Amino acid sequence: MDLLALSPSSVAGNALFCVRKHLCQWRNYTRGNLDANFLSNKNFQKGSRKGRGCFSKKRDASISCSNGTGQDLYVPANDKLIGARVIYAVAPAMGHNQESHPESHLRVPSILNALQKMELTPEFRGSEIIELQNFKPASVDDIASIHSRTYVSGLEKAMDEASQQDIIYIEGTGPTYATASTFQESLIAAGAGISLVDSVVAASKKSQDQPIGFALIRPPGHHAIPKGPMGFCVFGNVAIAARYAQRVHGLKRVFIIDFDVHHGNGTNDAFYEDPDIFFLSTHQDGSYPGTGKFDEVGQGDGEGTTLNLPLPGGSGDIAMRTVFDEVIVPCAQRFKPDIILVSAGYDAHVLDPLASLQFTTGTYYMLASNIQQLAKDLCGGRCVFFLEGGYNLDSLSYSIADSFRAFLGEPSLASQFDNPAILYEEPVKRLEQAIKRVKHIHSL
Ligand SMILES: [Zn+2]
Repeated sequence: MDLLALSPSSVAGNALFCVRKHLCQWRNYTRGNLDANFLSNKNFQKGSRKGRGCFSKKRDASISCSNGTGQDLYVPANDKLIGARVIYAVAPAMGHNQESHPESHLRVPSILNALQKMELTPEFRGSEIIELQNFKPASVDDIASIHSRTYVSGLEKAMDEASQQDIIYIEGTGPTYATASTFQESLIAAGAGISLVDSVVAASKKSQDQPIGFALIRPPGHHAIPKGPMGFCVFGNVAIAARYAQRVHGLKRVFIIDFDVHHGNGTNDAFYEDPDIFFLSTHQDGSYPGTGKFDEVGQGDGEGTTLNLPLPGGSGDIAMRTVFDEVIVPCAQRFKPDIILVSAGYDAHVLDPLASLQFTTGTYYMLASNIQQLAKDLCGGRCVFFLEGGYNLDSLSYSIADSFRAFLGEPSLASQFDNPAILYEEPVKRLEQAIKRVKHIHSL
């Protein structure tokens, strides 16, 4: 994709006209849910409109060490890894923002606010929960393990134009925008993910009760294709981390679970012919970007290591519990991964305005708990979650906070957030057919 050929008046112009009306609904979410006190208290002010940094050096929770490959790893010091149950890294991309766009810079602060309110931060939990500090941005070489160098250099060059125009459109669907800080902040997001891979790998060698990694990052990544950005996504964070886990840590077999409501077409494409990376996506049938059909199963050497399960609209907690037991578990058991990575999108929540599934906070607690157990059973507990979608700030934030409780082995508080009265009957028959079909195709 030639980024420099895309200007607000060209490809994205028409798309923008179409989506402006659609995005108006976001004003209520983005303004109504922001906790101004939180923003003023945390360190995000320094990542202002054109800010670059989001990782601080104020604490000594991490150390730099070498793994013998010449690659510096930033992992928590050994004594801090023992006893840790969750390690998270924060990359809020405060400069990457467009007013009223659903993928806004309010998302990560909103999550952190919920973690704070629910006492799920290091301040309250001591060594049980670690915030990864001092991680490095991903290198261009890291990004180029997934994306073409033409795209990466084109995006970097486009920052001059973004700086002059305040905001530019780098891809028409979505639409996907960029500001002056997008390139650097996208490197930081990908860097957070790969640093968490370093941490969970280090922890799996030292701890019996391995911590889960959670990358609270944006821009999201699973729609970004090898040749360019797409659908709010700039770099494929989870895909880049998968290649990194293979290259730097020798973890050959990577199992990626994508439960975002949209198909992770970028990750799908990156590994479509790769037999060592299993990509399993559940998504709402017919939703953006329209890919992820049952018969998209990979090709060549990778035939059979891509599983797409489109869920009928209205699918919710019953659907996902069944899918987990009947599809995800047997698939992962058969694949025998060395690490599990998760494209964790929270836009399948019943309150999310971009789609029509009926996940609840309780569904996300179940997914967090079950995936953690799967990682313990199959790959030494090595598992990192990557934030993808999720655009209702409340359901996004409390679903992640309840997931943290799952990782800690604490009971769900979903009943405080979920309202059963707004749920309607799930399309059980069509779901049964979908599961039967995918099991048949993949011989499960
Ligand atoms: Zn999504």
